[in-house]
Amino acid sequence: MVDFCDKCGAIIMGAKGSEVPCPSCGHSNKATSEVKISQKIEKKEEKEIVDTEDASAEVHPIAKGIECPECGHDEARYFSRQMRAGDEPETQFYKCENCKHQWRKHM
Ligand SMILES: [Zn+2]
Ligand SMILES: [Zn+2]
Repeated sequence: MVDFCDKCGAIIMGAKGSEVPCPSCGHSNKATSEVKISQKIEKKEEKEIVDTEDASAEVHPIAKGIECPECGHDEARYFSRQMRAGDEPETQFYKCENCKHQWRKHM
């Protein structure tokens, strides 16, 4: 690394980035040959991935005493769903907590 004295122009051998006294005049020189690399740090905006729960995974209340026609288990989650708009009344569905069998109850 070669630099030149600010004061007298003498050649100074110095380490990069350090203050080097001139061997000729003693002037303290800052090494100027240092190439400053301005780094643009690009911040990547990370998009938050929000896991949306499946709408079908909504929690239905458990009805006790409802016997599953498949396995005889007496706990089933119930929910109602409109089958066809206006056409039918709401239909009650049951889903067995044990075997996940699903059946409908005609109201
Ligand atoms: Zn000098
Ligand atoms: Zn069952």
